Amino acid sequence: MDFELTDEQKMLKNTVARFADEQLAPLAPEIDDQARFPEENFKAMAQMGLLGITIPEKYGGSEADFVSAVIVMEELARGCVATANTWGAHSILCAENIYRNGTEAQRRKYLPDLISGSRIGALCITEPESGSDALSLRTHALKQGDQYVLNGTKMFITNGPNCDVTVVYAKTTPEAGQDGISAFIVESSFPGFSRGQPLKKMGVRGSPTSELIFENMEVPAANLLGEEDKGLRVLMSGLDRERIVYSIAPVGVAQAALDLAFAYARQRVQFGGPIIGFQMVQSTLAQIATEVQAARVLSYWAAARADTGQRVRLEASFAKLFGGQVGVRAVGEAIQIFGGYGFIKEYPIERMYRDVKGIEFGAGTNNIQKLIIIGELLKGMKPGL
Ligand SMILES: Cc1cc2nc3c(=O)[nH]c(=O)nc-3n(C[C@H](O)[C@H](O)[C@H](O)COP(=O)(O)OP(=O)(O)OC[C@H]3O[C@@H](n4cnc5c(N)ncnc54)[C@H](O)[C@@H]3O)c2cc1C
Repeated sequence: MDFELTDEQKMLKNTVARFADEQLAPLAPEIDDQARFPEENFKAMAQMGLLGITIPEKYGGSEADFVSAVIVMEELARGCVATANTWGAHSILCAENIYRNGTEAQRRKYLPDLISGSRIGALCITEPESGSDALSLRTHALKQGDQYVLNGTKMFITNGPNCDVTVVYAKTTPEAGQDGISAFIVESSFPGFSRGQPLKKMGVRGSPTSELIFENMEVPAANLLGEEDKGLRVLMSGLDRERIVYSIAPVGVAQAALDLAFAYARQRVQFGGPIIGFQMVQSTLAQIATEVQAARVLSYWAAARADTGQRVRLEASFAKLFGGQVGVRAVGEAIQIFGGYGFIKEYPIERMYRDVKGIEFGAGTNNIQKLIIIGELLKGMKPGL
């Protein structure tokens, strides 16, 4: 068993860590305050080759393994989770999905622009009336000649306010339920596409979110992603990978909170000495550090198994459930170490407390992860260790 990163992975981690420390973290308070999309971060990620991290070089990607995608997500989230969320929606939920399920013509048409950052990507599953019960979606696609006509509304779409390309799930045969869903590549320039106002969120504010509204939207038949009525296959093809990537984001935030709490505890003096000298403060820090490392190992283990092509449904949900729980708990404990100062905006821990909650929901809530885990265990599936 080898828990070491390869030389390439270590180099990637150092590069993204430096970017997170030098550019993302200093800018994070401003993009949170203004709730603005960090154009400069997006362009920098394109230049660093992060937007198509797992996609083959022939489409402009970096052709790295999946563990590398987890490394990128962790380091981005440590610096600025809003930027990390935008990166995940663009690179993993949209671009990787088009690569995995697209025809050669679709790959050549969409991937180079997404990877160079000249177009912004998104993914549309959730609707106002269908969240966890995603397959009950109501958006409808009717084939008319050489195009489909889509009607419906998508909710909570990351990059919704500024996306150019999005993968959309819609019912092509509504009476067939989950076997009547299809996936489409939609461009924001298609007639009938419109956006709602950006949603005013508690956290992850630098990653704009909105509704997308489709009114008799005309989508060329050539933009069907995968086969008609086989959208469930498209959706399921990436869901475990998406869960693994999103499992590490709260861990990245928790690591940032731990580093800040550690430094603060060293310099904050009460009762004549730094508070890090008090055993109860030490206990809190030791507990956070342990949980963060345990969650990190779970995510990397799941990613390494995905890289070998093994089924990772159970591993992905273990990592997603635990990563989210540890993130929220760790940042909550870290803020406690700051006392009253943790509650004011001058200290970044206040933002992290709001942000970490916001990335817990994506790719299925904690309850949904528990349902998947128990479903797998009932089927007799066993974790790979
Ligand atoms: C910041 C942010 C960004 C997002 N980005 C995207 C995106 O880019 N694209 C996209 O498609 N979606 C996106 N989402 C949507 C996200 O995936 C959903 O919020 C999530 O799936 C939950 O759906 P819901 O909010 O409708 O909650 P609901 O499904 O209404 O759930 C409400 C509560 O009921 C619980 N619950 C539901 N069903 C069960 C059950 N069977 N058993 C036990 N408990 C249950 C849930 O766990 C939850 O606690 C985003 C959400 C947020 C907050």
